Amino acid sequence: MSDRYCVFGNPVGHSKSPAIHAAFAAQCRQDLSYEAILAPLDGFAESMRAFAAAGGCGANVTVPFKEQACRLATRLAARAELAGAVNTLVFNGPDILGDNTDGAGLLRDLSTNLTCRIAGQRVLLLGAGGAARGVVGPLLDARPAALVIANRTAGRARELAQRFAGPAPLLGCAYPEVAGLSFDLVINATSASLTGELPPLPGGVFASGSLAYDMMYGQGPTPFLVFAGSHGAACLADGLGMLVEQAAEAFHVWRGVRPETAPVLAMLRAALAR
Ligand code: NDP
Repeated sequence: MSDRYCVFGNPVGHSKSPAIHAAFAAQCRQDLSYEAILAPLDGFAESMRAFAAAGGCGANVTVPFKEQACRLATRLAARAELAGAVNTLVFNGPDILGDNTDGAGLLRDLSTNLTCRIAGQRVLLLGAGGAARGVVGPLLDARPAALVIANRTAGRARELAQRFAGPAPLLGCAYPEVAGLSFDLVINATSASLTGELPPLPGGVFASGSLAYDMMYGQGPTPFLVFAGSHGAACLADGLGMLVEQAAEAFHVWRGVRPETAPVLAMLRAALAR
């Protein structure tokens, strides 16, 4: 029988992870299956334990369960512990390893696929949920001039900034507080796009030449990317590249081999355009 993997989320119907991991498995000649599992909002722990008990080898975790997955893991990789969020689980009997590949995936998409320089740039991160938590450490490691985290619930942004406090200029705040500031890179790590909404962002935050990046992806531009394009952002990118890159990192954690991402990203991009 093939080794079983899955992604837990709610919603999860839109997930491209099953197609990505099927393509990685074929490319790397790995015998595995990968499915999407809709976990009840109050039943993630039960879903996860049932999957592991049925022989599941590992899982991805998406919105809104990443912080819960972090609490349920019996041990954490250093990057997941720092983030306080888990998007990758490895099951080994009673041992549940929690890891976080979101930051590595975002950084690889920004730097390799989009050739975006982060060092010395002013970066605005929108959101303070599981996805945002995973990318703060790797973004700071890339040495931006400043990193500001804005969130609807300002206290969560402040708590996140405190968690990563160090030598780099780092601020957590509410949306109105970024009015009057401008940024070279604005990353939407909120789940607002999932429901067709827009974070309450002041329009003037996009510096000339700036890149607006939405972690969400879909057939057309998200409300955030439409807003960014009409408020001065020079480049717009969705999160499809991050999705493929974080998946490749998870595949490496599970299988010890690193798949090539470019053909899989091209395949997904072509499918979205159809
Ligand atoms: P969480 O549920 O953990 O966090 C959601 C965040 O979005 C919170 O900060 C929340 O603010 C904010 N938010 C939700 N709705 C709104 C709104 N209408 N206006 C402003 N802020 C809002 O989700 P995740 O962090 O796990 O995921 C966030 C998004 O990132 C999802 O769309 C997910 O699909 C995407 N993602 C994409 C990845 C990729 O590889 N491309 C990887 C990881 C995530 P508050 O704290 O106030 O509730």
